[in-house]
Amino acid sequence: MARVYNFSAGPSMLPEEVLKKAAAEMLDYQGSGQSVMEMSHRSKIYDSIIKGAEQLLRELYNIPDNYKVLFLQGGASTQFAAIPLNFMNKSGKADFVITGQWAKKAYQEAQKYGECKAVASSADKTFSYIPKLDKNEFTKDADYFYICMNNTIYGTVYHEIPDTGDVPLIADISSCFLSEPLDISKFAMVYGGAQKNVAPAGLTICIIREDMLGNARDITPTMLNYQIMADNDSLYNTPPCYTIYICKLVLEWLKENGGLEAMKETNLKKAKILYDFLDNSKMFKGTVVAEDRSLMNVPFVTDSEELNAKFIKEATEAGFVNLKGHRTVGGMRASIYNAMPVEGVEKLVKFMAEFEKANS
Ligand SMILES: *Cc1c(COP(=O)(O)O)cnc(C)c1O
Repeated sequence: MARVYNFSAGPSMLPEEVLKKAAAEMLDYQGSGQSVMEMSHRSKIYDSIIKGAEQLLRELYNIPDNYKVLFLQGGASTQFAAIPLNFMNKSGKADFVITGQWAKKAYQEAQKYGECKAVASSADKTFSYIPKLDKNEFTKDADYFYICMNNTIYGTVYHEIPDTGDVPLIADISSCFLSEPLDISKFAMVYGGAQKNVAPAGLTICIIREDMLGNARDITPTMLNYQIMADNDSLYNTPPCYTIYICKLVLEWLKENGGLEAMKETNLKKAKILYDFLDNSKMFKGTVVAEDRSLMNVPFVTDSEELNAKFIKEATEAGFVNLKGHRTVGGMRASIYNAMPVEGVEKLVKFMAEFEKANS
């Protein structure tokens, strides 16, 4: 069996240990005589899986007791509507920082429900940096302030959490979920699609401070009402059972491997290998300003479309797959999430060096 190094932005690599464990438990989960795929989500045995996943997530992220953890469906994109429906309920206003396509989509969707202000944007330079924030631009009575923490497509990240004072801060952390420690208490809500760093597609995790709940608009669809989901421990209807199970295995893997401090150290190491190479290469260049570089998504280019295409083709043949950049940026992008081993990045860089030598 030959496994490739998968640099996809999502769905993306899962730890091999997790896949092996899932395979071993596929037909008979812990003596139950069933696969997790076949279980009732109301059974006692399944309850231990979903509760176990929540407990592990709370432990790893050090989530304060006054936050709810919700396991939902619909992807991060569904929350673009759920967030205004649940929270845009006092002044009917919200602030957004436009750092890329995902932030923009959230901003556009929220406009259907209230008054939205883009307080800053990095659209002028293809989102290659995180804009400086001017507090004078912030809406004093906004119901919330919204950011996309790690910008999957453009490869930028907030290295500092914006200070929004009393205005609740909400962050999409889809593509940096569990990649390093995060002070959850600084946010009113963080959320993300699980398919980047935590599980297969189908699961969206929302972590919400309790005082935010209970004020959803009357028109809010039941399935998008966070209060109802919280009151039902994410079991209002059938949750994505198997995906939550894989999520639990990933969380166990994280804990066994030293938790988020250790993960951060490994992620810093991987990113440094790749960025150091890009900074020294004459052929390949990173596209993001140095101070805002993501540890998870690394876009890069050569100065020729032809060379980009040749590189992607040859890399794929050599077992480094999904390196094609997003269509709005072009070039290449290497997503190096938690499950990408250091060795995968070392080998990629070696391959890039050889390619550079052979083509210059
Ligand atoms: C992938 C991604 C999304 C979209 O997620 P879906 O689960 O496909 O809706 C939203 N935000 C960010 C930051 C992403 O990386």
